[in-house]
Amino acid sequence: MYSVVIVGAGQAGLAAAHALVRRGFTPGRDMLVLDGNDGPGGAWRHRWDSLTLGRAHGIADLPGMPMPRPGAGVPASELVAEYYGSYEDTFDLQVVRPARVIRVDGDGDGDGTGDGDTPGPLTVTVVADGTCTRLRTRMLISATGTWTHPYIPYIPGIDRFTGRQLHTVDYTRKEDFAGQRVLVAGGGLSAVQFLLELNEPGGAASTVWATRRPPGFVDRTFSNDDGAWGRDVERRVRADTERGRRPASVVHNTGIPALPEYLDAVAAGTLVSRGMFTRIDDSAVTFGGADPADGKELVQPGSWRPFPAGHREPVDVIFWNTGFRPALNHLSPLHLREPGGGITVANEVEVVRDRRVLLAGYGSTASTVGANRAGRLAGRVAAERLVE
Ligand SMILES: Cc1cc2nc3c(=O)[nH]c(=O)nc-3n(C[C@H](O)[C@H](O)[C@H](O)COP(=O)(O)OP(=O)(O)OC[C@H]3O[C@@H](n4cnc5c(N)ncnc54)[C@H](O)[C@@H]3O)c2cc1C
Repeated sequence: MYSVVIVGAGQAGLAAAHALVRRGFTPGRDMLVLDGNDGPGGAWRHRWDSLTLGRAHGIADLPGMPMPRPGAGVPASELVAEYYGSYEDTFDLQVVRPARVIRVDGDGDGDGTGDGDTPGPLTVTVVADGTCTRLRTRMLISATGTWTHPYIPYIPGIDRFTGRQLHTVDYTRKEDFAGQRVLVAGGGLSAVQFLLELNEPGGAASTVWATRRPPGFVDRTFSNDDGAWGRDVERRVRADTERGRRPASVVHNTGIPALPEYLDAVAAGTLVSRGMFTRIDDSAVTFGGADPADGKELVQPGSWRPFPAGHREPVDVIFWNTGFRPALNHLSPLHLREPGGGITVANEVEVVRDRRVLLAGYGSTASTVGANRAGRLAGRVAAERLVE
């Protein structure tokens, strides 16, 4: 039986493993890190080549070992995979991969209220090398991020479209869209960055941007060093998770920074939303219409010029940049969700319905800075609970 099993070896999982090692836990003996990927890097491992260190908002160093920063032009996927790999080696974390946790079951009553059976150990079901194994652990830190759960909204007719549909997770390079009419759906930073990239030479023939609301430009640039901004965003997301509501994504709360290249693209017509489409047919989307006046008070009023209701736009590709959901299916047998679908979390990592489970990188900690903090905290809380 393990004392702690960590699911996921992205930033949050590695930070949690480091916190436990510092407290004297031995990887492979009393703690175990399981990761579904083929190699190190967490979600960063899968990001497209044009997402370089210069284009990511920033990637925080893991606790105890700084990341080499060779230059802004290096793909973040390569850099982070190498860095996480050497972090795992340096602290001898013995990450087991590829190992996918498919379910976690619990004996007894996990909320510690004493109104049921005494909480027993958790049973973790893992698939590795095509074999299903069951492990027992007293505590579990779930640090599974969102990358494996891309979200695409249902729009009537979506199954009839004969062109290509892809999500952020499927993007490789702009050349794959050469000569095509691409509809980019979604109001977050991925959509913004892809619109710019697809409009570079060698990219799409044309792009149309679709968002449900006027683009959320904010009158500032931001970075992970911008403490006040970061704390404000986290406070808003935390207000949701503490009440068991589904957390909105961090980007939803941050808005789009007023970078000069983005403002130029608004003026050039590239970053101009045409509202949202409400129907899809075999070769086009039909817009639902929206009030152009909704954008009047915007920081960038020119970024909102919705098509009139019924406008039909022929497209070759629908590129969904509509975000992600937390990857938490493996926890379903524990019934942690509230009626609204969220999980109530106290002190950023503590699942209120089950004291054996900690979440790192969920809600307010789903950022590169937050994942570090949550990992450290989860490691500490797990160690404390094991001696209670
Ligand atoms: C396109 C994009 C760009 C982003 N850019 C930024 C940015 O610039 N700055 C920023 O602060 N944040 C950014 N983020 C958020 C970013 O994902 C977090 O900052 C951070 O990397 C998340 O770390 P994590 O450890 O929580 O998750 P991940 O890096 O996703 O790691 C989770 C790990 O868990 C594994 N896993 C998942 N499910 C299972 C399972 N059932 N069993 C076993 N293993 C499993 C995965 O394989 C993965 O290795 C971005 C997110 C996206 C989608």
